[in-house]
Parts: sequence; C-alpha cells; structure tokens
Amino acid sequence: MNTSHSVDVLVVGGGATGAAAAYDLARRGMRPLLVEQLDLSTGTSGRYHGLLHSGGRYAVRDLETAAECIVENQVLRRIAPFAIEDTGGLFIATPDDPADFPERWLAGCRTAGIPTESITAAQARTQEPALTPRITAAYRVPDGSCDSFDLIHAFVEATRALGGDALIYHRVRDLIREGDAVVGAHLEDTRTGERRTVSAACVLNAAGPWAGVVAGLAGLDVGIKFDRGAMIAMNTRWVNTIVNRLRPADDGDILVPVGTVCVLGTTSVHTDHPDDYRIEAWEVSKILSEADVVVPGIRHGRALRAWAGVRPLYEPPEAGHDDAEGREVKRTFSVIDHAQRDGVRGLVTVVGGKLTTCRLMAEQAVDVVAAQLGNEARCTTAGDPLPGPHAPRYHQLGGRLHKLEHGELPGELICECEMVTRAQLEAAIDAYGDQPVALDDLRRDLRLGMGPCQAGFCSYRAAGILQQKKGHTGPDTVEAFGAFVDERFRGVRPLLWGHQLRQMYLDELIYRRTLGLDQLAEQPTEEPAHA
Ligand SMILES: Cc1cc2nc3c(=O)[nH]c(=O)nc-3n(C[C@H](O)[C@H](O)[C@H](O)COP(=O)(O)OP(=O)(O)OC[C@H]3O[C@@H](n4cnc5c(N)ncnc54)[C@H](O)[C@@H]3O)c2cc1C
Repeated sequence: MNTSHSVDVLVVGGGATGAAAAYDLARRGMRPLLVEQLDLSTGTSGRYHGLLHSGGRYAVRDLETAAECIVENQVLRRIAPFAIEDTGGLFIATPDDPADFPERWLAGCRTAGIPTESITAAQARTQEPALTPRITAAYRVPDGSCDSFDLIHAFVEATRALGGDALIYHRVRDLIREGDAVVGAHLEDTRTGERRTVSAACVLNAAGPWAGVVAGLAGLDVGIKFDRGAMIAMNTRWVNTIVNRLRPADDGDILVPVGTVCVLGTTSVHTDHPDDYRIEAWEVSKILSEADVVVPGIRHGRALRAWAGVRPLYEPPEAGHDDAEGREVKRTFSVIDHAQRDGVRGLVTVVGGKLTTCRLMAEQAVDVVAAQLGNEARCTTAGDPLPGPHAPRYHQLGGRLHKLEHGELPGELICECEMVTRAQLEAAIDAYGDQPVALDDLRRDLRLGMGPCQAGFCSYRAAGILQQKKGHTGPDTVEAFGAFVDERFRGVRPLLWGHQLRQMYLDELIYRRTLGLDQLAEQPTEEPAHA
C-alpha cells in the first residue's frame, strides 16, 4: 500500500543533528517530519565516545571547532542537563609527550574561550587516584559525559509536543525531483516494506555518514570521506573524571566515564564505507596500551565491549584541503545549500561536526531552510530547557539506585547491571503502542543489557516480558531475541580473554545450550495468543 501526506520539512536522519533540527523547525513554526531508517540514535550518535567536549581537544589544531564546542557545551548543559553527567575533565601530560605542547595548548584554550585551571600532579592524583604518578602537567577543563539516547529522545519528544512528527524504521528510498527542485521523498518501512510518499517544501539531509548517499538520491554529489574509530568499554569506572592526554590528538588518548563503565578510545582509520564497523586487533591493543600510560594497570582490567563508529569528514572544495585525511580534516561542520551550490532548490545538507555541536549545526541548517521557505522566525533552541518530564539537574550516576532504595522505582529488577525494573520495561514497551518493538530498541531506551554481563542475565527475562505484553511468539520474536543476543556477543568478540571470556562462555551456555535459542528459531510458527 502506498500512502501519502505532506509536511513543511522532511528531515532525514534520527541522530543528534536531525533530532535537534526537527526541534528547531517546530519551534520556528514549521511542520517537520523526521524519518530514520532504523531506531533513533542507531547511527554515529549511538556509536560515539560519550564526551561533551569542552573544546580542549581541538585547541591547538582546530580553533574553530574548539570555540564551537565550548559554547555548545554550555548551551547543552543549560537546555538538557538530564542527559549530561558533570564529570569535569582533566588534561594530563607525561614525560613521553612533547614538552612544548602544554604552552601551545593553553594559548589555544585562551583564544577559543575554554576555561582551564592548572593543578599539581598531587592534586590530579587526589582527584583521580588511578592516574599515573608520571604527570608533568595537569589542567582542569569543563568536559562532561553525555547520554546521546536521552538527548535525542528529548529533542524528538519536544518536536512532537510542538506538532511535528517522527517516523522510525522508515528509509528514504528516493528523493522526488521536479525540474530544479526537490519536492518530497518516497519512504519505505524497513520492517514491513510498506511504501509511502511525502511531499515537502524542503528536505533537510542530516544523514551523517550517509549524507552523500541521500544527496545522491537527488542526483547530487557531496564528496564525503569516511574515518572509522573504535572504542572499548571497561567494566567499571576506572576514573570519575574525563581524562585526556595533553599531546597532539592521537589514537587512544581519552578515557570517558559513562554510566557504570569507562569508555576508552579512539582510533582514526580511513574507510570507503559509511557503515564499516570493523574493529581490528591492533586497534584493541593500541587503545588499551595508550590508556595504560595514564592509568597504569587498566589494560589488564576487564574489557566489556568494543564498537566502532564512522565520522563523515567533509571539507568544502573552497577550503583547498583535498588531500587531508583522518585527524588532519577539521571537525567543524558544513551546511550545503544545494540551491546555491547546484541550482537545486528544496534540499539542504548538513554534515560533519560533533555531537556536542549538534544544536548549532541544526540552527545553521534550519536558517538556510527557513530562508528558502520565507520563514523569518529566529532560532530559540539555545535558550529554554528542553520541555518534558526531565529532571532540571545533571544526571547522577547513583540516581537509579537512589530511586530504587527510596521506592520510586517499584517492581522487580530485570537488568541488575543497569538497574532496570519490570515497571520501567513495561512502560517503555507500552510507549510503542501498536508499533513493533525489539529488545534492541528497549536497550537504547533504558540502557537494558549495557552493563558488565552484556545482557547475559536480562535478555531472556526481558524477552519473556516483551512476549507477554505483545502476546505473540512467532519466529519474528525469536529472531529478534536471537539478533539482540548476537549483537551483544558481536561487541564482546574482539575482547575474549580473562573474565570476559568466562562471561561469554556462561552466556553461550545459557542461550545456546539451556534455552536452545538456535533450535527455537527453527521451530514452526505459533499463532498469536490473542489472534
Ligand atoms: C568514533 C567516534 C567517536 C566520537 N566521539 C565523539 C564525542 O566523544 N563527542 C562528540 O561530541 N562527538 C563525537 N563524535 C562525533 C559524533 O558522534 C557525531 O558528530 C554525531 O553523532 C553525528 O550525528 P548526526 O545526527 O549528524 O549523524 P548520525 O548520528 O549518524 O545520524 C544520521 C542518521 O541518518 C540515518 N539515515 C541514513 N540514511 C538514511 C535514509 N536513507 N533514510 C532515513 N534515515 C537515514 C542513519 O540511520 C542515522 O541514524 C564521534 C564520532 C565517532 C565516529
């Protein structure tokens, strides 16, 4: 069946940029429809390092990005504190790092407006006892960690409250061109195959690393380079502050405490594909050995999970950096007005940047859309906190435990690692209404299965509750359960030694042997219980 409807602006991509853009459009009185081919934040925004940048990382080589980061760091703290943990950040130099770098870095921070506080090695080690004693310089900066799932959901909920809408599991298959204008798109439901047509006065392409593919659907060429980075989550918070190496940006020089884990990363590897999520063995050893320089012993700790994300790197031809690759390419962003660049109205592309700068990227892209549509409203997204039932304060690591202990989270625990209760799980399932929901969607909603056992103990409980609520046990349910377990295992595979190998073997015994997951998938379909 092909249904059709009409909106003011079709936003392609349910990552941080698309979600922030949909919210901005709705606040300026335009009617946006956000479409995401999978679930919200399944692209780069769900595969990132988790750092709300102070900008310190870019203070020497990329001042523009550094200045954008510190401004947007303050804005996100104001409008979405619930998605941010105010961990603070440290930049640490060791005798292995270039001796002249701290001075150059301090000068860059001053120019970009990044506040720094010089502290002694002893103060740094009092704050973070796991740090190396070999510290030659240490500075505090206002880094934080940011839960992209919470941030993106809040942008989308606020968009809906303002009359916009979002469709997940819908892919833009084609952009519809009439002469020199893009006037809409053909969408496909990626779960049912159902098609629909949307006409739109403008399409905002916020498809991250796939932005070139989406522009290609209108016959346009956006030359994007791809750069892959791997990250590793350790099973505890080795540090409670973000720790950066005070040296020119390189592999494995950041440790980010996020939720119950500590994320180490990242690498920078050229790739030709936007969805190349490979992790090579050298990346794992490099990340662990570099982190070990600042936190001795960490490489012998228990590594929980590894994943990779792909950075879309774009420099406009006028920048004249055609040969730049990887870390040489600036991390700022570009808004491409295809009416100006290619003579094609109705399409605007926004690409590059950081999750920290997603709101600013959205603002500048929506400015171009608004100009094309004759909308003169100003951007107001930097001012008010995001509406919704969010706490008006920073996220606290102990928040869920506090609620459990004070009876504010009733019901039995389903995921012990991340403290997810049955009541939370049922409420999250109910929020999907008649729409299908997979365990992996619930993982992103609640952090289900993201702790040390990597869903070893909660998957079968959650699958049972999902089956009770949705009332069917067809092969699609079993297949989705299998896919969830496989996806969790995939992230563990590059890290199989020590305790994690034991955990993986235990999980295999639970799922493949005791529950017979592989055989279940081969059994004939059961009729839906309430058919
Ligand atoms: C390894 C790594 C580490 C990083 N660490 C940090 C960090 O610590 N801090 C920070 O601030 N930034 C970090 N970044 C950068 C940050 O992750 C990105 O800037 C940000 O997530 C980009 O968001 P986005 O919305 O532009 O793209 P994405 O999140 O990739 O969203 C694009 C979306 O478009 C969807 N899509 C694509 N094609 C279609 C289609 N045809 N139809 C419908 N939907 C489609 C995709 O499924 C995807 O969800 C990191 C990036 C990488 C790769």
